[in-house]
Amino acid sequence: MEDIRSIAQHDLAKHPCLRDEKPFRVKQITEWLYRKGIQDFGQMKNVPAATITLLKEHFTFSAAHITTVLRSNDKTIKTAFQLTRGGMIEGVLIPSGDRVTACISSQAGCKLNCSFCATARMKSHQNLLAGEIIDQVFQLNILSEKEYNTGVSNIVLMGMGEPLLNYDEVMTAINHITEKEGMGISPRRITLSTAGIVPGIRRLAANDVKFNLAVSLHSADDRIRSSIMPVNKKYPLAELSGTLQEYHHKTRQRITIEYILFDKLNDSVEDAKKLAVFCRAFPCKINIIEYNPVKGTGFKPSSDERTEAFSRFLESRNMIVNIRRSRGKDIDAACGQLAGKKT
Ligand code: SF4
Repeated sequence: MEDIRSIAQHDLAKHPCLRDEKPFRVKQITEWLYRKGIQDFGQMKNVPAATITLLKEHFTFSAAHITTVLRSNDKTIKTAFQLTRGGMIEGVLIPSGDRVTACISSQAGCKLNCSFCATARMKSHQNLLAGEIIDQVFQLNILSEKEYNTGVSNIVLMGMGEPLLNYDEVMTAINHITEKEGMGISPRRITLSTAGIVPGIRRLAANDVKFNLAVSLHSADDRIRSSIMPVNKKYPLAELSGTLQEYHHKTRQRITIEYILFDKLNDSVEDAKKLAVFCRAFPCKINIIEYNPVKGTGFKPSSDERTEAFSRFLESRNMIVNIRRSRGKDIDAACGQLAGKKT
């Protein structure tokens, strides 16, 4: 049986089991599913029991519930979610000025095996369903209102997993999040981050998506990138660059390049030169990210001096550069630290 929130809203209305229902009834159902963030069929209070029984006969309802909340000294919050069909994922709330960003997961675990990443060390792996993805947004939004007196303003798919390896469910979830009958959040406030899955980026371009695209690059040298991100062996830099050029050509969007600085691995001025050459091929901005050591990986963060020299070089080449200091380090909520531990 298909999960009810894995279906696009317009397809649900046409489903045979709802064909005899009045349009207002279908509207009530979609509001419960995509706007009110229910976690179970039984919560559709104004829908007759017979219709709920019909839905239960035709669909499953998989959900994600917050089980643990950890608060960092810097006000970042990490949450663990239990999936009703089994498995754990994590999400993070990052307040900054008048913005609150929800960092959400697209998979439980990740097969891409980047050597610096805690998620890659998880034994289990599964694609999340669209409902499990939107549950993270619903629940982090409620938590944000409670903790910071304001809801989530931005969403980044940068938590556990590679979103483009779970393309259909992620796209369905983003549609639920952005459609006005759903959560109605502007696609401009959503960023999908990929490790560089070329066919997925091509599909995004073909679908002319309106949300933002970020690419976790971490090196513009094939040898170094392949050594820390095995995905680079399959989709090397030249192919990735060509695809990002096509993506920009189709969507006219500026791309964000994410670059974690590792001490003496990818943080020399020579590395910055290669990055500048890579980034010249399409309009982009570069986020330089401070690394949070993950036990047992052997990677260390770059020193302040090397970070400064790296970003100064890029700025001298007229690149747009932001240095992102790490948030939530004390609760393992920082970039690359999500690992579905039972906290
Ligand atoms: S860094 Fe991202 S793509 Fe790489 S293993 Fe971790 S979650 Fe997967």
